Amino acid sequence: MENCIFCRIVNKQIPSKIVYEDENILAFHDIDSKAPVHILIIPKEHIPSMNDINQQNCNIVSHIFYAIPHIVEKLGVKGSGYRVVANCGKDAGQTVDHLHFHILGGRSLSWPPG
Ligand code: 5GP
Ligand code: ZN
Repeated sequence: MENCIFCRIVNKQIPSKIVYEDENILAFHDIDSKAPVHILIIPKEHIPSMNDINQQNCNIVSHIFYAIPHIVEKLGVKGSGYRVVANCGKDAGQTVDHLHFHILGGRSLSWPPG
């Protein structure tokens, strides 16, 4: 997917501040952080959104959630708390059509979100 910005980040064609990487997933700092800690975790495989998770690719979701405790510990918010957000589609404000999970932390987060 040469036009996908996150695929380009996976392929290191666009630089990013990586906090975790393995064979199947990548975590990096959001370029426009909305909290002191704002990370994006993505599958390396191009999956456009939550709507495209299926029996063939769903293992990547558990892989991402398995990595989260390790990543948040590294970021120093495991004890203080954090939020995991996945925007899907127009009404949720999804702007990049490559599945991603936001991790937000480092301050008190309002609830419910806008
Ligand atoms: P969404 O709005 O789709 O849930 O989240 C997309 C996120 O990707 C936004 O928070 C935006 O700041 C981030 N983003 C967009 N382009 C880039 C980029 O080139 N590099 C990084 N690190 N983050 C990006
Ligand atoms: Zn992509």
